[in-house]
Amino acid sequence: MSASGTVTKLLGHTDSYYAASANAAHQYPALDQQVEADVCIIGAGYTGLSSALHLAEQGYKVVVLEAERIAWGASGRNGGHVGVGQRKGQEDLEKMLGLDTARALWDLGLEAVELVEDLIQRHNIQCDLKRGIMHLAAKPSHNAWLQEETELLQERYGYQHMRYADRDEIRSLVGSDRYHGGQIDSGSLHLHPLNYALGLADAAAKAGVQFYEYSRVTSYTGGNPCVVNTAKGRVRAKNVILACNGYLGGLEPRLAGKIMPINNFVLATEPLPESLAQELIANDYALQDTLFVINYWKLSGDNRLVFGGGENYTSRFPQDIRAFVRKYMLEVYPQLADTRVDYGWGGTLAITLNRMPCVGRLEPNVYYSQGYSGHGVPTATFAGKLLAEVVAGTEERFDILARIPTPSFPGGTLLRWPGLVAGMLYYSLKDKLGR
Ligand SMILES: Cc1cc2nc3c(=O)[nH]c(=O)nc-3n(C[C@H](O)[C@H](O)[C@H](O)COP(=O)(O)OP(=O)(O)OC[C@H]3O[C@@H](n4cnc5c(N)ncnc54)[C@H](O)[C@@H]3O)c2cc1C
Repeated sequence: MSASGTVTKLLGHTDSYYAASANAAHQYPALDQQVEADVCIIGAGYTGLSSALHLAEQGYKVVVLEAERIAWGASGRNGGHVGVGQRKGQEDLEKMLGLDTARALWDLGLEAVELVEDLIQRHNIQCDLKRGIMHLAAKPSHNAWLQEETELLQERYGYQHMRYADRDEIRSLVGSDRYHGGQIDSGSLHLHPLNYALGLADAAAKAGVQFYEYSRVTSYTGGNPCVVNTAKGRVRAKNVILACNGYLGGLEPRLAGKIMPINNFVLATEPLPESLAQELIANDYALQDTLFVINYWKLSGDNRLVFGGGENYTSRFPQDIRAFVRKYMLEVYPQLADTRVDYGWGGTLAITLNRMPCVGRLEPNVYYSQGYSGHGVPTATFAGKLLAEVVAGTEERFDILARIPTPSFPGGTLLRWPGLVAGMLYYSLKDKLGR
């Protein structure tokens, strides 16, 4: 339920194409009193919003505290690709966790994409939902991976929505000479990420969730009840869910060392003429390549190219993000040299050491989910549903994720940077070299 009941223009978000094309959104008050709740959720991205919605639908009294605006973080800024599977490939998962767990994770990954689609339909969320993702081999040697993975998914996992396409077929679909082959996956989706999040928030508010914006949590304690503090208010709650992901900062030192915040950048061009849009992506799928520092792109609802490319590992964004990303875009599509870039923005996501989500309990009534490593649109949404299940006492599916090992970064929060940055730079250099 909206506390203020007002609908206002979207302010307080980063200056992105998504914020400029956002649906009308409610503005919620800052917390300035003490309130009681069954569950207090910290952070209003997909993790927090989906857990809030699923909990409220089961009758829980839910309070969500967001430091900025709803979906101000990665959930309002990302590429909008909703891919099947996990961030890590199935073959790696089989080696890491065994066939049974890998299979269970594959099934959860499929369910996650279905959940996103189902929520959008059930709550009539207007978010430019479209079908299909293609993965493109950026080097000849990457072709074999994609072919083998497609066969593995078809044969061992019975996934029939994906097929391999050779260089000529990819060239007929993508207006770039750069790619050597690819996977065409009609089971994945893409969407306007901020409007999807705002739609989840509206559905949660209708189900009774109380939202507070500009209400940064400064500290919390577990116990019965848990006490969650903001500058001007306090929530006493039977349960707490930490859903802060790349923006966790120092709020919970037990979780901070398990994730590494990294920044990733996106641009949106001016709206393209239909013929040019068709030339770039003939089937209107979202695209991503196989480089370590991945390029990913799609057409927006109004035919802009929304292109993500480049990342950094510092606390600062590049001064000119449009120019920073444009060079990656022109490597793929040199024909866009004269196309105007209208927006450029960045966001922070959390990666984990093994690129699998970091999910669990810190105390019997304090839960967390974070570190989706670039695969959070489906996974964070789904994690929200599992968090709601575990709060309600059903832990089987939550535990599939909670049992995945979540090693801390060597060096903890203070010293993780030098090692990670060296590793990231090594792999991004490999992107530029060799076949
Ligand atoms: C540029 C970019 C592109 C991406 N592209 C894709 C993609 O195409 N597909 C995909 O699957 N994934 C993608 N991702 C990843 C995906 O966006 C995230 O995994 C997902 O949005 C995480 O959701 P979340 O709710 O866990 O975190 P967030 O959306 O980051 O939300 C966390 C929220 O917690 C709030 N918060 C933090 N600390 C506090 C506090 N102390 N008190 C109160 N509130 C607090 C923050 O303000 C923030 O709003 C991308 C990410 C980025 C940055």
